[in-house]
Amino acid sequence: MGAAAQMMERRLREDFPAWEGLVERAGWCVRPVRVMGGAAAVHPGTGEVLAAYDSQGEPDGSLLIACGDRRAGVCPPCSARYRANLWRIIVMGLDGSAGAGWPVRVPGSVSAHPAVFATLTAPSWGRVHRVRSQDGACHPSRGRPVCEHGTARWCNLVHADGRQVGDAMCVSCYGYTDHVLWHASMPELWRRTVVGLPRALARQSGPVTGTHRTVKEITALLRPRFARVVEWQRRGALHVHAVVRLDGRSDGDVAAAPPAWAGRDLLAAAVRDAALSASVSMPAPDGVARSAVWGSQLDVSPITNPSAAARYLAKYSTKVAGDTLPGWPMRAFGPLEMDRMRARGVSWHLLMLAGTCLRLARRYPDLSHLAERVHQMGYGGHYASKSPMYSMTMLALSEARRSWRARRSNGDVWADLGAVVVGDWRLVGLGYRTAGDAEVAGQLYRQEQQVRAARRVHDVAVVRLVDGEEEAGW
Ligand SMILES: [Zn+2]
Ligand SMILES: [Zn+2]
Ligand SMILES: [Zn+2]
Repeated sequence: MGAAAQMMERRLREDFPAWEGLVERAGWCVRPVRVMGGAAAVHPGTGEVLAAYDSQGEPDGSLLIACGDRRAGVCPPCSARYRANLWRIIVMGLDGSAGAGWPVRVPGSVSAHPAVFATLTAPSWGRVHRVRSQDGACHPSRGRPVCEHGTARWCNLVHADGRQVGDAMCVSCYGYTDHVLWHASMPELWRRTVVGLPRALARQSGPVTGTHRTVKEITALLRPRFARVVEWQRRGALHVHAVVRLDGRSDGDVAAAPPAWAGRDLLAAAVRDAALSASVSMPAPDGVARSAVWGSQLDVSPITNPSAAARYLAKYSTKVAGDTLPGWPMRAFGPLEMDRMRARGVSWHLLMLAGTCLRLARRYPDLSHLAERVHQMGYGGHYASKSPMYSMTMLALSEARRSWRARRSNGDVWADLGAVVVGDWRLVGLGYRTAGDAEVAGQLYRQEQQVRAARRVHDVAVVRLVDGEEEAGW
């Protein structure tokens, strides 16, 4: 049966509304997990079965569970939900704007805590083609310099079409090994930056506040918290964007206010200081000792619009390398894939980065993990992370949403925290049963988006983003 016939068959079935409900509960996921089985909510004291559920009563006898993939290129609806949740978590950490009844540890008073938006870049490993503001030339020719390989170090193009942007001007000059090893060390570099914050706060306390505080005093009084994401640049390097908030030391589970002298200027100076001081020794496969440090392009600025800052961070949390670098694979690949990538227009510069990962992995047992990270140019960290006390966790957020929905629908034994849920499930398949089902689910998702868009026009203002793009709220 062709997809059109399958779609017809699905839509005209009597249980179509029930199937629509299943798709909606799976968040219109494009590749849901299909499971079969049942569960019972059991009273922990008496063993009484409070409620039972069996998927046999559902269309096709199975349940659909969202794939939950954060990557926009894999599942747009799941990715959009992830982005919306992350936005909520980040904004909550900046203005404490939780709805009533949410199990939050951040009170509304956090909006008065000092907070900054920081962008930490990768260093330069060689000259690359670039786009400059005001249509300036890429690297204007002053004396037409060439490198030791005889390649031009100048370029008068404006690169308005974006082609070549990020590519090394000389592949022989560019430090591909350093680039890949820096990516491999970046999670540790970030960790050290965060760990170094109390020390930096102590160092900056004298110059900024007029009174020097020791590291001991700082750790007794202050707690920096952060949320961060990574962003790909055209040269195949990662950027870090982070929101850093300064809390006072609290005994309980609530973010306390810092003392008045610990303001935004001190936090900004300390974040800058911590970033400039952090360094990690990189692996030295060729015997050359190198350290990973942040690039000189360091930006730390006050947060004037928490919602826009959160939106900016959330946006990057769902992007993979392929969203910035067209034709770049989403999963690890081997040398055989390279011809196909070249045919898809992937630049020689990016292929060199992949090749460097694979070569290092092959030659040095200590770096064999780089082969699995070839699609991330050696990076093995998270795309988004945060301090535990920044705001709430993704899990807590989904739990809160679930119990809120249950409360709205007049009590649901499944959300009753007193009951123990015992289940017996079996995997039936990945993705929809037929291509036609997948098409219908896509139609339902687009319908839902239209409904949401219509609603949004009335109650959400368009927020101007930090990078100049405009995007409507979720
Ligand atoms: Zn999904
Ligand atoms: Zn150029
Ligand atoms: Zn050169």
